[in-house]
Amino acid sequence: MTPTAAAAPAAESVFVRIPALAARHGAVNLAQGVFDHGPDQALLAALAALGSGLEHQYAPSAGHPLLRSALAGRLRLLEGVAVDPDTEVTVTVGATEALHCVIGALVGPGDEVVLVEPAYEQYAPAVRSAGGTTRALRLTGPGDRIDAAALAAVVTPATRAIVVNSPWNPLGRGLDAEEWRAVADLTRRGVVVVSDETYEDLNLDGSPHTGVLGAVADPELRVKISSVSKSFAATGWRVGWTVAGPELTRRIRAVHQFVTFCPPTPLQIAVASVLGAPDTPEVLARRARDLRARVDGFVSALHGLGLPATAPANGFFVLADVGEDAERWCDRTIVEARVAALPMSVFYSEPVPPMASVVRFAVCKRRETLDEAVRRLRSHHTRRRTSCTWP
Ligand code: PMP
Ligand code: GLN
Repeated sequence: MTPTAAAAPAAESVFVRIPALAARHGAVNLAQGVFDHGPDQALLAALAALGSGLEHQYAPSAGHPLLRSALAGRLRLLEGVAVDPDTEVTVTVGATEALHCVIGALVGPGDEVVLVEPAYEQYAPAVRSAGGTTRALRLTGPGDRIDAAALAAVVTPATRAIVVNSPWNPLGRGLDAEEWRAVADLTRRGVVVVSDETYEDLNLDGSPHTGVLGAVADPELRVKISSVSKSFAATGWRVGWTVAGPELTRRIRAVHQFVTFCPPTPLQIAVASVLGAPDTPEVLARRARDLRARVDGFVSALHGLGLPATAPANGFFVLADVGEDAERWCDRTIVEARVAALPMSVFYSEPVPPMASVVRFAVCKRRETLDEAVRRLRSHHTRRRTSCTWP
């Protein structure tokens, strides 16, 4: 008999399975939040400017000091929060490793973690691999909000943490002030708020980011997680970070040192120089404006195809109602139209009927790619309509 680790996830990630399927069918991959173009030029320039010495060796496990202090500066500037880069910031291999380390630092056997569904695919396996279990608060429609009473009802004496995602993949909005209050209220019961803010720089309406650092006062009861992946179109750089109080940071670092030790030092230094540059806020604002134009164009193209769709306020995920079972639609569309999208059901641990016909398109692609996807959807749509023999 082959021994199996109880905590090992059984199923393949949708972000492994669907991109491979898309490649096999020559489909345009709108299923995955990955860019189809290079990163921000400033990152490449910073990388090219690196020397040939110690910047190619291990950084301190907590993160290169230049990057930790650039992050502290950015938090002061953008969120008005003072954090100590030596004791409160840890650099990780993307938000992905950050989540794993934070959950590993907080959760053990017998502990529960509240997830608010739709929830990013990684959260539940991270909790299970730490020996914990999850309890879900489920939002059942795109316009639904986190209700304070419903949230309080999923918390038990075993609840160690709640994971929220703001701005929210796939809902395309941040938590509003009332939702933040409901979440922050749980800290009175000792629950730690883990806030995944990976999409914080993609506010398409130009409004400032509001995150956990503003919502929860006690630094030992809050963790902010973020990364360069989405802000700078650099998902392959794998540079992320955590921000938490000194004691919590000590525990996060204790996990991180034995997982990856540190992300690549050259990339940390390049990111530090870009985050610290005076024109970075304007560069990010320009990126958000450009993204908005692509998102709006794609949404109106979907409307033209008769698919009701909503433009996100944050991020680059467009939700559309395909009017039939979304899993079946996605399976068929990847093969027949050669366009890959993601059914909303992958963000839920149980079926939610109002979401059953909703799909998510990742619109972080060049205009040509989006135009090609629309062209394929339109021609497939027309073919199906003309070959359909029933009313
Ligand atoms: N959290 C959410 C909500 C995401 O959508 C993603 C994917 N970008 C991640 C975390 C992982 O981000 P990273 O590339 O920084 O590991
Ligand atoms: N976060 C991305 C998404 O939701 C994908 C992450 C990945 O591909 N690992 O599409």
